[in-house]
Amino acid sequence: MVSFVCPLDRLPLSDDLRCPRGHIYRLINGVYDFLQEEPKSNDILEKVAPLYEDIWAPLGFLITGRTSYSSVLKDAASHSSGKEFLDVGTGPGKIFDYVKCEQCYGLDISMRFLAILKRKRSRVTAVRGDAMSLPFADESFDGATSMFVVHMFPDPSKPISEISRVLKRGGRCSMGVLTKRGMIANVLSRWWKLELRPETYYVSISERFNLKTTSVRQMGPWSLINCVKS
Ligand SMILES: [Zn+2]
Repeated sequence: MVSFVCPLDRLPLSDDLRCPRGHIYRLINGVYDFLQEEPKSNDILEKVAPLYEDIWAPLGFLITGRTSYSSVLKDAASHSSGKEFLDVGTGPGKIFDYVKCEQCYGLDISMRFLAILKRKRSRVTAVRGDAMSLPFADESFDGATSMFVVHMFPDPSKPISEISRVLKRGGRCSMGVLTKRGMIANVLSRWWKLELRPETYYVSISERFNLKTTSVRQMGPWSLINCVKS
């Protein structure tokens, strides 16, 4: 059973998304909205949203990682599929084409991406929220993925700790990250204004939050880290 909690204080919410402390959330056009205000949107991914899953992500990934984007999503899905499943930073939700789940949740900060998710993949519950404070109760999910998202955060340990918190024990997760490896990584980090970290950094942070790495796949500067929560 997946239940929503208030992302500000983790208290359980009523059916109409009200927190006992007075925080109120809304269901807008089929999207559960846990952001109190519109985030500043200067993100290039937001501008390319309509083309993102069909052109931008596969092409960019093919060039920089020399492998197909869909093969990486398939890998992550086969490791982390579960009855109750969450994708963090889901964008238009492409991974749900490969994930086997009964209760499927996709979280993103962008309404534009979530509108595409709702239109194309109606079985997925669309949630607008912040990966640094997920609006789900502890141990809600059997599986979780976050594909090429956590390296965008100034402190990646925040979203990683949250993914661990909402996973059940024995739950599986897959994280795609940009790592400090090779020339292309430097170009991408300047383009996105990111601080690059080595793969070992993500593996050790995950361990700190009880996510034990079971396998890693490297594709150019990108790594797919598969974990199990102990
Ligand atoms: Zn609250």
